[in-house]
Amino acid sequence: MPKTIIVSNRLPLQLSIENDQVHAEPSVGGLATGLKSVHRDSNGLWIGWTGLTAEEIDVQHEDAIKKEVQDQQCAGVRLTESDMEGYYYGFSNRTIWPLFHYFMEYAEFEDDFWESYKTVNEKFAKVVLENAEDGDTIWVHDYQLMLLPGLIRAQRPEVSIGFFLHIPFPSYEVFRTIPWREEILKGLLGADLLGFHTYDYERHFLSSVSRILGFPASFNSISLTDRVVTVDSFPMGIDYEKFSAFAKANHEQTDTAQSELQRRLQHHQEETPDAKLILSIDRLDYTKGIANRIRAYEHFLEKYPQYSEKVRLIMLAVPSRSNVPQYQLLKKEIDELVGRINGRFATVSWTPIWYFYRSMPFQNLIDLYTSSDVALITPIRDGMNLVAKEYVATRTDRTGVLILSEMAGAAKEMNEALLINPNSLDLIADAIKKALEMPERDQKKRNKYMQSRLKRYNVEKWATDFMNRLQAVRVDDEYVR
Ligand code: UDP
Repeated sequence: MPKTIIVSNRLPLQLSIENDQVHAEPSVGGLATGLKSVHRDSNGLWIGWTGLTAEEIDVQHEDAIKKEVQDQQCAGVRLTESDMEGYYYGFSNRTIWPLFHYFMEYAEFEDDFWESYKTVNEKFAKVVLENAEDGDTIWVHDYQLMLLPGLIRAQRPEVSIGFFLHIPFPSYEVFRTIPWREEILKGLLGADLLGFHTYDYERHFLSSVSRILGFPASFNSISLTDRVVTVDSFPMGIDYEKFSAFAKANHEQTDTAQSELQRRLQHHQEETPDAKLILSIDRLDYTKGIANRIRAYEHFLEKYPQYSEKVRLIMLAVPSRSNVPQYQLLKKEIDELVGRINGRFATVSWTPIWYFYRSMPFQNLIDLYTSSDVALITPIRDGMNLVAKEYVATRTDRTGVLILSEMAGAAKEMNEALLINPNSLDLIADAIKKALEMPERDQKKRNKYMQSRLKRYNVEKWATDFMNRLQAVRVDDEYVR
């Protein structure tokens, strides 16, 4: 029976070794949830890195790890520390990530990074080829594996290959600056179907292909010499039911069942009933516009001093890629900005920003989403932004206002949010005021539309739409041949 193989940089599991016992725990991220039916219910296999480098694995544990991974319907790709340095921290995070998010001055064009990227993509290809049979379907994910579709196609033309890019695809003028632009495009074109979050990313890709490789690209297909590649947009959704169910349970909880954070948030609400909470959640990444967001909040407090003691920004910044220099600099900048603003505006009974630099358990995220009157999400660039969708999904009574950057992919589906240009401090300050003063009726009307869209196009629908399209494309292609 033909099977589906999913390939991503990381496997959806957490390996741990305790007292010589190897244990694998499935992880519950958005992608793992969306692909659950593709992976688990069919005869599926997921290929990726286990999270432990070859150097971290004792020879005596190797077989046990392999078995645990197999038991989860997964297969591991063996990567060394130097692979991770060059391919992941190097080419993926210091070349592609900044460039695809239009941070051109941060992109490093290092031959060593590129060589490592090629080597690791070949390692992934080897494991895929060991497991794939003619007639199988292979779905490759994200910017770490852009050469993989081409490498698989070259060895096994009789499989069906899909690729989804989870970050933006930049305009041709930006993409063309990469020294290895042709190899990357050719790698991607090994796929039968290429998916992007938005129509704009798709358009940029088509224009790069026709201008760099000279293949004719029409509305959503590219004609190669021997086959046709289909390109389309599939905006990724969230596990709507899960967020909404947890939020409902939060409202129904008795005091004793509440988390410590929830108790504190509630205490704050009771002490200062007319004060409002504004929420900001992201990985600490320069693409997320965190520093500008804090400056905009400062500008808001200057411009509208009547809000002193009446509003509080809860800012959760999740540590990320802290071995890359730009991330270290950003952390310092944010620490200083928070310190400056708290120092400048605080009163004996009020701190304008509550800042957390850590990740939080799922339950605490729900506590934050359900307790905040406004979500302030202002990335400079973002492929999608799931936090925006999660906030709206948890507003079960339909109150709450989302302020969202028009540079996030999510903005394309969330027109009812207060959309802002993240580079305008004044616009953001005014949007904060508007959000705080928005009548409940208006809030509910906006959230109603967004919720019904998010509910319909959830992460499972995203995955099945992509898979159905991939099957259809393949059938068309066979018919042509
Ligand atoms: N998130 C998390 N722990 C935290 C904070 C956030 O797991 O402490 C999750 C959040 O619920 C969301 C994801 O991280 O699903 C962030 O996705 P998004 O698309 O917003 O940004 P990314 O980090 O992928 O760029």
